[in-house]
Amino acid sequence: MGNAVAGAPMMRAMVLRHPRQKLELVELPRPVPGRGQVLIRVLACGVCRTDLHVLDGELAKPKLPLIPGHEIVGTVAALGEAVSGEAGGRFRIGSRVGVPWLGWTCGSCAWCRSGRENLCPDARFTGYDIDGGYAEYTVADQRYCFPVPAEYDDLHAAPLLCAGLIGFRTLRMAGSARRLGIFGFGAAAHILAQVARHQGRSIFAFTRPGDIAAQDFARRLGATWAGGSDTPPPEPLDAALIFAPAGELVPAALRAVGPGGCVVCGGIHMSDIPRFPYRLLWQERSVRSVANLTRQDAEQFLALAPRVPVATTVEAFPLADANEALARLRSGRLTGAAVLLPE
Ligand SMILES: [Zn+2]
Ligand SMILES: [Zn+2]
Repeated sequence: MGNAVAGAPMMRAMVLRHPRQKLELVELPRPVPGRGQVLIRVLACGVCRTDLHVLDGELAKPKLPLIPGHEIVGTVAALGEAVSGEAGGRFRIGSRVGVPWLGWTCGSCAWCRSGRENLCPDARFTGYDIDGGYAEYTVADQRYCFPVPAEYDDLHAAPLLCAGLIGFRTLRMAGSARRLGIFGFGAAAHILAQVARHQGRSIFAFTRPGDIAAQDFARRLGATWAGGSDTPPPEPLDAALIFAPAGELVPAALRAVGPGGCVVCGGIHMSDIPRFPYRLLWQERSVRSVANLTRQDAEQFLALAPRVPVATTVEAFPLADANEALARLRSGRLTGAAVLLPE
């Protein structure tokens, strides 16, 4: 895996050998940074629902074997060629950096050249096409790494790197919506709710029916209303964001928004959307998805988060307990975000 050389120092990593199998704790040679890359000592790595989709084989083509993880906070431990000095290096040894899902783009396609590198057909993603952060070390292209705001410790910064960034992009797709529905109140929603409140929006939180703990959590973060996804909101909404991977939430969200309302699907995978009557879409309601992130999203959100200030709620797990963290995320038995710590 990576550019290991004989006799290199070793590291521990959680590795996916095949979809639908558990991750294995293994010892591997530390990767060596290539041209334009940095070696990062991982200090924390968030656990994202996308990791579950990779593990479950719902995302078609992960590299295998794979080290998952794309919410990485760490310090630069070594510089590859052309990272330091005049070549435009952004980091030094010891710099604290964050590594998100977007790991590489071509820079020359129509999407890259029009500010939409998130849609680059050749884009490579951290913890999917590229080994990620469920390990003690990782390498990353320095152009896709970001300084982590000093206000956050490693543990609390990790969820900003995906739940925060892609959640922020999802929120922006809601435009100026004032009454905002959020379906699925997990890691992304708990960050976004704080940003949305800061922007003067009202939050209506939809959870699994009967999930009183998640509804209380949403209210503590400033939600005006919280209820089950089978319950209509007390008033029509201007937009709804869906973070739970359940296609049946799309017609539910269309029912909850008023004329002109927008439904934004924030996840990378969703179960099939059931058929629904055209009248749910009528009156210029719309449904759209959000894919990945741009580096501009990362810069803007990481500057905004400490100003809100966004506080992340996390549950820490040792790296070796990654399977347990993933199981808890799958069953909804987490408040906020799970984060792995290599001890
Ligand atoms: Zn491109
Ligand atoms: Zn993610």
